[in-house]
Amino acid sequence: MTHPADRTLQGRTALVTGASRGIGQAVAVALARAGAHVFCVATSAAGCDATLARIQELGGAATGLQCDVAEEASVEALAAAVQAKAPRLDVLVNNAGITRDGLFLRMSTADFDRVLAVNLRGAFLVSRAFARGMAKARGGRMINVGSVVGLTGNAGQANYAASKAGLVGLTKSLAQELGSRNVTVNLVAPGFISTDMTAQLAEEVRGQILQKIPLARLGTPEDVAGAVLFLAGDSAAYITGQVLVVDGGMAM
Ligand code: NAP
Repeated sequence: MTHPADRTLQGRTALVTGASRGIGQAVAVALARAGAHVFCVATSAAGCDATLARIQELGGAATGLQCDVAEEASVEALAAAVQAKAPRLDVLVNNAGITRDGLFLRMSTADFDRVLAVNLRGAFLVSRAFARGMAKARGGRMINVGSVVGLTGNAGQANYAASKAGLVGLTKSLAQELGSRNVTVNLVAPGFISTDMTAQLAEEVRGQILQKIPLARLGTPEDVAGAVLFLAGDSAAYITGQVLVVDGGMAM
């Protein structure tokens, strides 16, 4: 059970895309621990069951919902389902993301399009679906999960890096458009975090990456969740349009 003083989001609602595992799961748990009712989104109806169970164990409140963030109709149905349960959404975390890595000269159009569709179009569709409500309520927090490779580029990830760089532009533009309505829009850019997404990397590559991290360890999903929780809370009320890198110092 969380100490009452730590329940900084008590009474608020939050939605996290890609909340079935990895970073999204840790973010959903952190927001729920802080007192928010969290809508947890994944591609299948039962996808977030483990996350919901974890939140329930901690005495928090959450609802699981299905959505493919790349599909407009699916996002509209998601927004309607949330609106039916909660009059307003206070915190939106666009975390859903995929990789389809490959060297540029061999990268298929399908692999480029799908990564852009989920990582960038998905954030656009979900943000648009909830922006009006936040603007009308004169308050809200949007937090996009980007990546350091959106700032630095990365060989073998032209599609992924482009999608994450696009998210930076989306974040800064929305921050400018929605600021007068007291809606902040920021981006958290994780470095190398231990999740399913990075599990397949060869030991050798992992070792090479470790050598570039001043804090000398890979990140955990909880490391990223801490930054998201900060941006979602009252302490970050005057921060918007920013990129917060969470990478152990890898990309200084
Ligand atoms: P992960 O473990 O692979 O989880 C990805 C999540 O995204 C899952 O919940 C998945 O849901 C969801 N998702 C995928 N496609 C979706 C779609 N079309 N619609 C809705 N949800 C979808 O990934 P992760 O490592 O936690 O990464 C989370 C975010 O952090 C991503 O945006 C990623 O790019 C970013 N990031 C990760 C790292 C890292 O080192 N891990 C570094 C920088 C940035 P299902 O379970 O239903 O498939």
